[in-house]
Amino acid sequence: MKVNESTYAYIWRDPRANNCNTYLFVSGETRCVIDPGHKAFLPQLFRLMAADGFPPGRITSVILTHGHPDHMEGGLELQKNGARLGISAREEAYLREVGPQFARMFGLAVPDLAVDFHLQEGELRLGAEHFRVLETPGHSPGSVCLFHEAERTLFSGDLVFAQGVGRTDFPGGDSGLLKRSIQRCRQLKPAALLSGHGEMLRDETAVERNFETVERAYFDAL
Ligand SMILES: [Zn+2]
Repeated sequence: MKVNESTYAYIWRDPRANNCNTYLFVSGETRCVIDPGHKAFLPQLFRLMAADGFPPGRITSVILTHGHPDHMEGGLELQKNGARLGISAREEAYLREVGPQFARMFGLAVPDLAVDFHLQEGELRLGAEHFRVLETPGHSPGSVCLFHEAERTLFSGDLVFAQGVGRTDFPGGDSGLLKRSIQRCRQLKPAALLSGHGEMLRDETAVERNFETVERAYFDAL
């Protein structure tokens, strides 16, 4: 579904299987998929994107907010079809360290990772549009969030959700860092929260209220 002029969302709502939300960002010829999800669910993602006018063969890049299999696995497939794959350098190193262990945990093949570009704190251009990349460790050491300046949309990966925060009990998780990362994102005053799981929040008041709730409900326990 279309969120705004440049952003399409594919929200995962099947409770029988774990997978992430996927977003497509379009600007000119640039078609960037953020967090493509599990490989097994790519055919249905491709059908939905094609219905919005974006056949999978035309995807130019993939951005991974972090390297957990439920976000990353499909990215390696898109890469085989010509998309360039980006992740933070810290997360790449982390994946090389714990990737095999994760793959075993989820019963998946060990990912064959070849990163085309690194995401780092600061500006990122997608087509004609400006993004800010925030390094937001906590859920994993090299997690990033993307902030689209024009629409003030925050792509938060598994840092923060509507009514929730990312888990920190996976290897490399750190609840102190998670809190700090959430507070950094709150300061941006996003007008929309597009997170890796759960529903989207699409107005500034709802997003701010959610940050408030999350801090109240989770921060002491983290
Ligand atoms: Zn994750």
